[in-house]
Amino acid sequence: MNTEVTSLISEAGRVAGVRYRTAEGTTGEIRADLTVGCDGRWSVVRREAGLRPREFPVPIDTWWFRLPRDGDEKAELTPGMRDGHFAVVIPREGYFQIAYLAAKGLDGRLRAEGVEAFRDRIRKVLPQQADRVDAITSMDDVKHLDVRLNLLPRWHREGVLCIGDAAHAMSPIGGVGINLAVQDAVATARLLAGPLRRGRVSGRDLERIRRRRLLPTLVVQAIQRTMHRMVIRPVIEGRRNGPPRALVAVMNAIPVARRIPAYVIGVGLLPEHAPKWARRD
Ligand SMILES: Cc1cc2nc3c(=O)[nH]c(=O)nc-3n(C[C@H](O)[C@H](O)[C@H](O)COP(=O)(O)OP(=O)(O)OC[C@H]3O[C@@H](n4cnc5c(N)ncnc54)[C@H](O)[C@@H]3O)c2cc1C
Repeated sequence: MNTEVTSLISEAGRVAGVRYRTAEGTTGEIRADLTVGCDGRWSVVRREAGLRPREFPVPIDTWWFRLPRDGDEKAELTPGMRDGHFAVVIPREGYFQIAYLAAKGLDGRLRAEGVEAFRDRIRKVLPQQADRVDAITSMDDVKHLDVRLNLLPRWHREGVLCIGDAAHAMSPIGGVGINLAVQDAVATARLLAGPLRRGRVSGRDLERIRRRRLLPTLVVQAIQRTMHRMVIRPVIEGRRNGPPRALVAVMNAIPVARRIPAYVIGVGLLPEHAPKWARRD
C-alpha cells in the first residue's frame, strides 16, 4: 500500500518486474515471473509496456457530490432527466451520492459559473432534493470525473498482462466496471495458476485471458456506448426529457425484454467463479 509503480524492468525483451517508490520516497525493484497491470484507467504498467488502447468517443463527464439523507429516506433510482440536465441519485447510509452528467469539457464553465448556478442545475433536475442543495458549500464539494471508454487490442506482452480498467476503461453507466475488473482478476488467477506453478507463463497463456474476457467486455461497452448515444446525449443536449419512446414502448410491451440488459449488467456474460481448488472448506 502507498507504494507507486514508476516503471517496468525489461530484460532480454521481456518484462521482469517493476520499479517502485514508497510514500517516504524510498525506491526499489520487485522481480516477478509475471507482472499484472491492474492499475486503472491511467495505467503506468500499460504505458510502460507500450500497449495502446483504442479510444471510443464519450460525450459525457460526471460530477459527484453528496447531499444529506434523513434516516432511511427513499430516493428514486430512476435518473432525473429534465431540460438539458441529467442526474442519478444513489442512497447511501447517511447521505445521497449524486452524479450530475453533462457534456465533456464543461468542467471549466461549471466552476466559473460558481456554486449557486450549480445548485440551480440540481434544483431543476432533482426538484425533490431542492430543499437541501445548500449543503453543497462550494464547487470544491463537487468532484469532476473524466469519463473514458477504451479497449486494448492486445492485453499482454512477454511477462506482463493488463486487466480491469487498465485493459478496458469503463463508463459509469450501469455501474459494472468493478464487476468486470474483479471477474478479469478471477479469470487471470484461474487460468494462470497452473502455468505459474510450473514456472513458465507463455504468451499463449496470457492471450487466453483476453480471449475469455473479451466478449463480456465488448457487450457491456456496446451497451454503454448505446446508452451514451441514445439516452444521455439527447437529454444533455436538451432534445429529450427521457429515454426514446420506442424503447420504453418495447420494454413495456415485452416485459422479458427488460431482463436481457438487466442480466447482462447484473450477472454478466461468462460469469467467473473461483474454482474448487481455490476455495476454503
Ligand atoms: C465516474 C465513474 C463512476 C463509476 N461508477 C461505478 C459504479 O458505480 N460501479 C462500478 O462497478 N463501476 C463504476 N465505475 C467504473 C469503475 O470505477 C472501474 O471500472 C473499476 O474501478 C476498475 O477497477 P480496476 O481495479 O481495474 O481499477 P481501479 O479501481 O481504478 O484501481 C486501480 C488501482 O491501482 C492503483 N494505482 C494506479 N496507479 C498506480 C501505480 N503507478 N502504482 C501502484 N498503484 C497504482 C490506484 O491507486 C487504484 O487503487 C465508474 C467509473 C467512473 C469513471
